[in-house]
Amino acid sequence: MRRKLLMGNWKMNKTIAEAKEFALASKQLSEYAKKHNVDLGVAPVYLGLSTVLEANPNLIVAAQNVNEHEKGAYTGEISIPMLQELGVTWSLVGHSERRTYYNESDEACNAKIKALIAAGMVPLYCVGETLEQFEAGATKAVVKEQLYVGLNDLTAGDVKNLVVAYEPVWSIGTGKNASKEIAQDVCGYIRKLLRDKFGDIADEIRILYGGSVKPNNVKQYLGQPDIDGALVGGASLAVESYEELLKNIVE
Ligand code: PEP
Repeated sequence: MRRKLLMGNWKMNKTIAEAKEFALASKQLSEYAKKHNVDLGVAPVYLGLSTVLEANPNLIVAAQNVNEHEKGAYTGEISIPMLQELGVTWSLVGHSERRTYYNESDEACNAKIKALIAAGMVPLYCVGETLEQFEAGATKAVVKEQLYVGLNDLTAGDVKNLVVAYEPVWSIGTGKNASKEIAQDVCGYIRKLLRDKFGDIADEIRILYGGSVKPNNVKQYLGQPDIDGALVGGASLAVESYEELLKNIVE
């Protein structure tokens, strides 16, 4: 039985003080989530990671990105041991904004995922097609390539804690969320690809939908057989809408 997961991606938002305020205000929510078997998390900017962890140790706290090298001449980057020193155990990989603005390739994502898994951390791997690819009917081909290259050279044992997020690029931050039918179709396809590649462990891998998820549309996604939760940007920033998202998932 896969546990539901609500993960907020704060992107480049919230100062340390604002992150702390949110984390303290979400303490009761974490208790509520635990009682209802939902995992609850956020991905703050690097500077907010330890503050959020300290203020609410019951939240899953994920980095938004990581460098695959342990240390060295990589100006501006943050390594896995640096995250682990803070107690961070999760990282997003391949968010569409990183792919678009920082040219992250599937191969680069693969290096990060392998390094995270080798270090015992949880990668949350984001995949999804652009509007042009969607309109050309290429969604599944794009997702297949992202998944196969991104998860190259890994075994079933390696991917048991992996989380995959299907996030159509055209739906991120646009208010144009994919229909539940589209989301289920692609998430079901992702699970099939995971089964083809890794066998029955695919049934244990959580797959999230992300893209303009709001309190008033989240429930429809969680009702789908292959969607285990949501990766949420804008609606995760205010604790009130984060609470509404959680309550609508539970009810
Ligand atoms: C995201 O950042 O992953 C995301 C899905 O953003 P939004 O919910 O704002 O579309």
